[in-house]
Amino acid sequence: MSAAEKILPGHAKYARLFTPLDLGHTVIKNRSIMGSMHTGLEELPDGFERMAAYYAERAAGGVGMIITGGIAPNPEGGMTVKDADGAELFAASKLQNDKEVAGHAIVTKAVHDAAPDCKFVMQILHMGPLAYNDLAVAPSPVKSRIGAFAPAELDEAGIEKQIADHANCAAMAKKAGYDGVEIIGSAGYLLSTFLVKKTNQRTDKWGGSYENRMRFPLEVAERCREAVGDDFIIVFRIAAMDMLQGGMSWHEVAELARELEKVGVSMISTHFTWHESAVPTIATMVPRAAFTSVTGRVRQEVSIPVITSNRINTPEVAETVLADGEADLVSMARPMLADSQFMAKAAEDRADEINTCIACNQACLDHTFGGKTTSCLVNPRACHETLLTYEPTQAAKTIAVIGAGPAGLAYATVAAERGHKVTLFDAADEIGGQFNLAKLVPGKEEFYETLRYYGKMIEKLGIELKLNTRAEADMLSDFEHVVVATGISPRVPDIEGINHEKAVSYVDVLKGNKPVGKRVAIMGAGGIGFDVADTISHDGLSGALDKAVFAKEWGVDFDNHPRGGVTGVEPEVASADREIFLMQRKETNVGKGLGKTTGWTHRLTLQRRGVKMMNAIDYRKIDDAGLHITANGQPDILDVDTVIICAGQEPLRDLYDTLESNGVSVELVGGAYEAAELDAKAAIKQASEMAAAI
Ligand code: NAP
Ligand code: SF4
Repeated sequence: MSAAEKILPGHAKYARLFTPLDLGHTVIKNRSIMGSMHTGLEELPDGFERMAAYYAERAAGGVGMIITGGIAPNPEGGMTVKDADGAELFAASKLQNDKEVAGHAIVTKAVHDAAPDCKFVMQILHMGPLAYNDLAVAPSPVKSRIGAFAPAELDEAGIEKQIADHANCAAMAKKAGYDGVEIIGSAGYLLSTFLVKKTNQRTDKWGGSYENRMRFPLEVAERCREAVGDDFIIVFRIAAMDMLQGGMSWHEVAELARELEKVGVSMISTHFTWHESAVPTIATMVPRAAFTSVTGRVRQEVSIPVITSNRINTPEVAETVLADGEADLVSMARPMLADSQFMAKAAEDRADEINTCIACNQACLDHTFGGKTTSCLVNPRACHETLLTYEPTQAAKTIAVIGAGPAGLAYATVAAERGHKVTLFDAADEIGGQFNLAKLVPGKEEFYETLRYYGKMIEKLGIELKLNTRAEADMLSDFEHVVVATGISPRVPDIEGINHEKAVSYVDVLKGNKPVGKRVAIMGAGGIGFDVADTISHDGLSGALDKAVFAKEWGVDFDNHPRGGVTGVEPEVASADREIFLMQRKETNVGKGLGKTTGWTHRLTLQRRGVKMMNAIDYRKIDDAGLHITANGQPDILDVDTVIICAGQEPLRDLYDTLESNGVSVELVGGAYEAAELDAKAAIKQASEMAAAI
């Protein structure tokens, strides 16, 4: 830290997090890294300008080092993106020539202008068998379970080309103004497929023994070092625990780390998992800092700095990990999406103002893997910095926001931040609306953080909060503008016997207001049907809160580190003593509509707990005998004690209709606007955009 830099209260509180790291040729000002995340901007025509704004805002927010989303060293290592006429575009997602250097230079200049002391590192990502193009290459022609194409086996000349292309890419990154590169050697991408026997079946000098399997990644690292000289950061990302049956043993991980140090890597970054593995490593149900002990072991093997990551989302957790000696630096990718000012707030001891990443993946990785621009559920400005701006208003209004659920909270805070005078009403005795239900679901405890954030913002921005107050039209005449965010009411399907005592609403079940029997039918298999099934099939402590429980549930052995961390370790199913039927009318597979990157974890969890998933169901009636259905054209009676209704929602918009007919300046937002599309992501985004425009 330079003498001129102000010592802030957070520097003492998070002393290790704010300790600079001297790499010899350069200094990283603190121990925080914004880890690599593909943004989807890389492929857009105005992508460089948008990336410039996105990364510069984070650099200005105080992070020590930023690592970009993956950039391919050549066409075969990347994504094939086609324009409207079907022509292939590679310009933004690869770095191979001077023309592409010019684009990247726009981003590096913006970052260094915003924060000259923030290190900006470009990730070199060769996707290998996961490349979305028919040029895909790999050590052996083994198609990944999740790959789109069978890769071609590299011959000797092809291997040399891949190594040379990595070195060239690193040199180009230096030319573009980056401070370093990160080479990704994990996750099932090219370099990692050389390391593991199931994807490297070669018998030449690039396969067979572990020494031979390490040859390619080591050669890439060494040639990159030669290409960039000594005064340039090279981070190498390894799979410290790949979560693959038959994956890398601990001894192989340790040996790779030691060899990487010898060939001149500046830092080792520990990654956990390959994308194809069946253990969640970043979702909400993963405990915070679950994997840092593995990084700690890698740290014992080398003398260069080691970076840890995964589910570290507060300065407190980061500080603890560093204090425990488990890492030299902490990488937080999604937390920096959620709040670009994460480190600045920590520095000023304002951590309670951090908009915390809740690990939902709904707007970041689900978008990335769905081909959409990345964003963030709790911060819709992420990756949209040039499009969604919260400018101070020139005409402050008095605004009443009715409803303190996600939409109302987002509207109120953005409008107040812009200078409007906001009063926020809610009939309940606490803010949060549907978030208060979500936080009760095992593994969704992070929602408490969102409520803490909004509570703090209400206080800080001077929003007048009126709880226990059901706003009526005649109470709102003094306001210049009214925003109705009254949310939803659970849909009550029109089925005979829906008022039978066996039928209960998901609200009463999640709040614990109504008992749930031993045999249960869940009517509706959307996000909430799954949440309810999870809650009532669950036996004991949430894995998200306890690493040992998580390890048992997912079959991971952190202590003995068998191959991949999982080989031979059976998941221990912690299911409640209940028979559960989860049903929908649609013919599609149950759970098909869940998030792309987390849906599989929910489906797998419930399958392991024996929940019976039924599609194409017709509900006929509920009576003392149970739930009468037609399944596959056959009538049946499920002899259940409880039928939990999770059949979606209806908008609550009576107040809006009244105000509108009275000629009041009024807007409708969130679930009250469109219950069919109701989810927190849509509600917060819509509300933020509206509040940015008022
Ligand atoms: P939802 O996702 O729309 O699902 C509603 C379910 O009810 C569907 O399974 C639907 O399936 C069924 N249904 C609809 N009308 C019905 C009727 N008249 N009779 C019987 N069944 C009916 O709604 P939700 O589960 O309440 O979730 C609300 C929102 O919160 C959604 O946007 C959801 O994505 C979000 N959420 C997300 C998560 C998450 O983890 N990402 C978790 C919870 C909630 P059929 O029509 O096929 O029967
Ligand atoms: Fe975190 Fe969810 Fe935002 Fe992704 S979308 S950064 S997981 S809060």
